[in-house]
Amino acid sequence: MKKKLIGSIFVLVLCISFASVSLAAQIFWPTQSTRVTSEYGMRTLNGVTKMHYGMDIGAKTAGVAGDSVKSIHNGVVYSAGWHSSYGNVVYINHNGSNQMNYVNVQSVYAHLNSLSVTTGNTVYGGTVIGTMGETGSAAQGVHLHLETRNCPTSACNTVSNTDATNPRTWLSGFITTSVPSLEVEEYEHESYSDLTVDSPNYYPYETLVEMSPQELKAIGYPNPYELEILTDSTYSLQ
Ligand SMILES: [Zn+2]
Repeated sequence: MKKKLIGSIFVLVLCISFASVSLAAQIFWPTQSTRVTSEYGMRTLNGVTKMHYGMDIGAKTAGVAGDSVKSIHNGVVYSAGWHSSYGNVVYINHNGSNQMNYVNVQSVYAHLNSLSVTTGNTVYGGTVIGTMGETGSAAQGVHLHLETRNCPTSACNTVSNTDATNPRTWLSGFITTSVPSLEVEEYEHESYSDLTVDSPNYYPYETLVEMSPQELKAIGYPNPYELEILTDSTYSLQ
């Protein structure tokens, strides 16, 4: 009898641990480092106060590009490409999951060194989507600029995905260190709508591959001769 009770308790504890592991696995911290260099909100850079629509996270070793960047949740890559301010950027749509309170959310990962996904790819929480870098207007250091946007319609598939929210809304369960530093960006563009996939300054991967090296240079693409993406990569869960 005693043995049976101990057995039942053991099974119960196992179930609880599995349940909490699978719940915890639903939302992922996007980087190897938890060093937050700039929070979402108003900030002053070089004497100019502006809204910062995302959260900046530094590299594991400050200044060194190449850390893996992961999707924070299950979703579909809405677009991946080049933006003159964002640099290499990935937009992922997460439609109405219970882990995100049934809100349709788009997450955006900017200034990447490289991209490993493209439009239409299905990703999971923890899927590596690229590496951390300082492309675009991240001239002040290697970091990830992470944004989350609420999509006002039933799915994140319109031009109006412009309602920025604090990424900490979705990443509330993670312990971070806040170290304000210069590993941030200063956008050249004033208007937030310019930071969507519909901006004339954004070129999705599908467009980039059609462009000549000269055209790529003209839009500021840093490595026109090395443009490649792992479109059929098997996604690694880390
Ligand atoms: Zn930022």
